[in-house]
Amino acid sequence: MKKVILEVSARHLHLSEKDLFVLFGKNYVLHKKKDLSQKGEFAAQETVDVVHKNKVLSCRIVGPTRKQTQVELSATDFKFLELPTSLRLSGDLKNTGGAVLVGPKAKIKLKQGLILAKRHLHIDPKTAQKWNLKNGQSISAVNRGERAVVFKNVIVRIGDFSTRLHLDTDEANASGLKNNDFIYLDI
Ligand SMILES: [Zn+2]
Repeated sequence: MKKVILEVSARHLHLSEKDLFVLFGKNYVLHKKKDLSQKGEFAAQETVDVVHKNKVLSCRIVGPTRKQTQVELSATDFKFLELPTSLRLSGDLKNTGGAVLVGPKAKIKLKQGLILAKRHLHIDPKTAQKWNLKNGQSISAVNRGERAVVFKNVIVRIGDFSTRLHLDTDEANASGLKNNDFIYLDI
């Protein structure tokens, strides 16, 4: 068992520069609310409304901008919006669903990009090698406590990362976990 820090990913979205400029105005620059654990990433002060069938979810932007717009929601959020889930790793947006994004300047009909993020472990190459983990490998993680759960199918993502395991709010709430708790890799 290896102990790592858990982070609970609340619903959020990443915007392409093009979509950011449409929603907020040309050459708009996001305002940082706080830095996130992964290098360069930050929670912005700005939010966008994700709308489907008159249901509205306020969604925080995580910057900086990315190549493609991606909205990461929990299963509860998908249910609320009455949309089917697409369980994906970040960046894998083919055949995912869309919704309407509403910003202060305009709205966008996003054709695809809504995902339910697969459980994943961010890890740096050195630690991954030490722990004998391969990129894309699927592992299990367990928490301790009265509502202990075995989380299977945690995908290993090796890169220039801080070592953190990411679950969404549904997964964390159902198992009594909170941000920055420890979780144990079954390796
Ligand atoms: Zn992550």
